[in-house]
Amino acid sequence: MEREKVLLTEEQIKRQLDFCKKVSALLEDRPNRLAKVETFGCQQNVADGQRMMGMLQEMGFGFTEDEKQADVIVINTCAIRDHAEQRIYGLLGALTHAKKAKPEQVICLCGCMAQQQRVADKVKNSYRHVDLVFGPQAMWKFPELLHGVYQRHRRIFSIEDEHGTIAEGLPVVREGNVKAWVSIMYGCNNFCSYCIVPYVRGRERSRDAAEVVKECRELIESGVKEITLLGQNVNSYGKDLPEEMDFADLLAKINEIPGDYLIRFMTSHPKDASRKLLETMARSEHVAKQLHLPVQSGNNRVLKEMNRRYTRESYLELVRYARELMPEIALTSDIIIGFPGETEAEAMDTVSLVEEVRYDALFTFIYSPRPGTPAAKMPDPFTRAEKQVWFDRLLDAQNRISAEKHASFVGQSLRVLIDGVEEDSRWNLSSRTTGGRLVHLSGEESLVGKYCRVKITDSNTWAMFGEVEEILG
Ligand code: SF4
Repeated sequence: MEREKVLLTEEQIKRQLDFCKKVSALLEDRPNRLAKVETFGCQQNVADGQRMMGMLQEMGFGFTEDEKQADVIVINTCAIRDHAEQRIYGLLGALTHAKKAKPEQVICLCGCMAQQQRVADKVKNSYRHVDLVFGPQAMWKFPELLHGVYQRHRRIFSIEDEHGTIAEGLPVVREGNVKAWVSIMYGCNNFCSYCIVPYVRGRERSRDAAEVVKECRELIESGVKEITLLGQNVNSYGKDLPEEMDFADLLAKINEIPGDYLIRFMTSHPKDASRKLLETMARSEHVAKQLHLPVQSGNNRVLKEMNRRYTRESYLELVRYARELMPEIALTSDIIIGFPGETEAEAMDTVSLVEEVRYDALFTFIYSPRPGTPAAKMPDPFTRAEKQVWFDRLLDAQNRISAEKHASFVGQSLRVLIDGVEEDSRWNLSSRTTGGRLVHLSGEESLVGKYCRVKITDSNTWAMFGEVEEILG
């Protein structure tokens, strides 16, 4: 797609900022207006939620967690599993009470689930208290849509299948000042047979490298210590850019920014993860030695049915090369058990791959059909109970491996970034190692945002525990 059609013009962005002012003027009799933004799903959705908060702030809204107090409620949804979708319908149902008590309240449904026609139809007919529905592709014009609801007192549904866009210069409200998400690209071209994302988030489009580097530089200069670069498939970054630029080149450019910070990224598709990327990671001091490389299955027939376009062997070769270059690298993955037609033996191929790779952590799922995807139409002869047995075997294997890996660090000194306060009185601070492993600590809350050297004293399946030895800055 031509780049001019993808990149929104300054004029288009300014128009949205003008709509922020217009909404603000319409609501001037509510000087203490509040909004609640609730986000479900992946980090890309979290980043989108922060942009919508930015736009709401520009419209003069403060923020609340209490739906009864909110003048505007935004539910930013995920479409990846049926369970997530049912939860949203439950939530929407419960919001009828808030709306009854506060009839001028505006309820918005957005995100991946909202982009689907069947969802919009259901909301139109069965959830009549929802005022505004729009998908990720229309998110940039949220101010204009909300203005339309306020001015015309009508429900608005904006889920046209637009070509995807890139919107630079929209405001953003970030959570905390230690970590930040930076989207580097949007959409996906891969059409894995089980996945709804390409249908709801449009085709791949990359932000200009100069814009990404500028945003990272500003964050680092403002004191942010860890930036996670986001994209559905970061490894195809740059394919649509006019200049010669791939994801490894982008990482190298960001790595040149001076400062004390770490760069992480997700998600990497194994078919596009190049040796160049691994070599760039290995030599870039600011790039965390951590790789989230979703394998999904360890069986070649299932991988083919999933349309993943790599094999068990090519995946294992990537892992081997990554470890050759970076022996300390932390590896994580996503796995689906019970893909339609997957047999017990094929599911056990996935368990054997997990034993072979020895991941640091896994995000594991039992297959959930998504209407509109090819996999949802495939015969699925095995029962949920059978899949659960295979799934439990996978979890047992990974839990044992995670516990062994964590235990191997006991007694060692590791560099961590202290990133948050927890409610546990014994371990009141949370931190992450360079590889992204969780370490619970006790100490002063003023240590949040600091790099420290910690001694690991204990561990379990999920995390490690330690003592602060030295504050590094
Ligand atoms: S790479 Fe596959 S699983 Fe990931 S977002 Fe794209 S289609 Fe979905």
